[in-house]
Amino acid sequence: LRYGPAPATIGAMAALRFPGRTAIIDERGTLTYAELDRRAAGLAAALGERLTGGRIGVLCRNHRGFAEAVLAASRIGHDVVLLNTDFSAPQLGEVAEREGVELLIHDEEFGDVVRASSFGGRRILAWHEGTAEETIDALAERGPARPARTGTRTGRVIVLTSGTTGTPKGARHDLSIGRLLPVALTHMARVPIRSGAPMVIAPPLFHVLGFAYMTVGLGLGTPLVLSRRFDPERTLEAIEEHRAETLVAVPVMLRRMLDVPDGPRPASLRVVVCGGSALHPHLSEEFMDAFGDVLRNVYGATETGWATIATPQDLREAPGTVGRPSFRLTVRILGEDGRELPAGEVGEIYTGGGLRFAGYTGGGGKRVRGGLTGTGDLGHFDADGRLFVDGRADDMIVSGGENVFPGEVEELLGRHPGVAEVSVTGVDDTAFDQRLAAYVVRAPGATVTGDALKAHVKEHLARYKVPREVHFVDELPRTSTGKVQARGLPS
Ligand code: ATP
Repeated sequence: LRYGPAPATIGAMAALRFPGRTAIIDERGTLTYAELDRRAAGLAAALGERLTGGRIGVLCRNHRGFAEAVLAASRIGHDVVLLNTDFSAPQLGEVAEREGVELLIHDEEFGDVVRASSFGGRRILAWHEGTAEETIDALAERGPARPARTGTRTGRVIVLTSGTTGTPKGARHDLSIGRLLPVALTHMARVPIRSGAPMVIAPPLFHVLGFAYMTVGLGLGTPLVLSRRFDPERTLEAIEEHRAETLVAVPVMLRRMLDVPDGPRPASLRVVVCGGSALHPHLSEEFMDAFGDVLRNVYGATETGWATIATPQDLREAPGTVGRPSFRLTVRILGEDGRELPAGEVGEIYTGGGLRFAGYTGGGGKRVRGGLTGTGDLGHFDADGRLFVDGRADDMIVSGGENVFPGEVEELLGRHPGVAEVSVTGVDDTAFDQRLAAYVVRAPGATVTGDALKAHVKEHLARYKVPREVHFVDELPRTSTGKVQARGLPS
């Protein structure tokens, strides 16, 4: 498998087209496209001197250093592995070894985790005030700006899956400009991001959602507004301050922004891209009522990239949909026997085309049928060709012989005024195989009881979908990409 050095090309292209335009706005101020390109070139030269052909790991929060590291690596043809900032020391060591990381660029705050891990390679700090350590700043400013190619292949980007179902897998991605551009452009037909219009990227850049929009934003010559950690209040302020037109977020971030008391509703916002996990109808309705019809629900996975997009109109007409396949992308619902199912029938969602998943590093993989990759998600099309994701196959709860998708029960509970956040899972049960348990974060000031919530479900859904247990918790254990980790829930 061969991949083109697209991010570098994109960075250099944008620097030629919009040299004086702002590329990045972060805690340290602004950086223009020309400066970003110059610094990436300087860093590339320094990296080239320090590498023998292995991969570069990036363990950074959202700031300029992340973009500089990725652009620099691809200039010299080195693969970049985007590492999860939630990793424990053993996980970091394991993934760094599996992915062949030779040099690690990391934030100072992860110094202890890195030192405690088994990673023994060279380290560069993303940013440091003092002068004692090797930093991106020192290397980027030193030049020279003509780095020699030292990588063994053209640079690729290894994006890890979220690890919702276990240790994050490394998905290899084709980010050559020839592949990325048509996908990005067809995507833009339904997600009208304007060149030059500031974009706030709230999810971590190491995750496929944040990374994809960083690449699109840089390609379009868009100022990217980045902050280390998501904070709902600060995000709303940043949108107002920079008159941002685009926001990229995961559903729980939208929930938290809506819950900011007297939070602003910035009029500059034209496009809000939401993805990464289920966007329940009650949340999309509430968000669009507050912020206008600006919301897009994007469905995809690390392996598939963008698969489908729901426009605001789709979300109004068919609440809960993830929309229609992107142009040039194939999405099919296949039954157990591999045959395509008609509208209305639930089966596994398969996708093909687009960014084209190239396999996991270290082997293993999803089911492939007729050139299409299985997502592990179950879903169905409606009669109008809109896709619905019913849930992950692994998450389906079998209770008393009946199949229950937790998402349906979560959506209903989420509509209750006493509920802020909710997660429903299956718990082993001797009589019923599994019984439903709901974990609920109460809305501020709410006193709703478990019995009231059970009655609420009973009123609207079949008996077997009523949770047997309701646990009230202060917060749900989430990954930094906003997914609830079932194994972190109290039993
Ligand atoms: P792992 O594969 O390591 O267990 P993961 O599957 O969570 O982790 P990601 O690639 O980050 O890794 O997530 C992709 C999955 O997220 C999809 O397969 C789907 O289950 C879910 N998902 C993403 N976007 C949406 C969406 N818009 N609506 C519903 N579900 C979504």
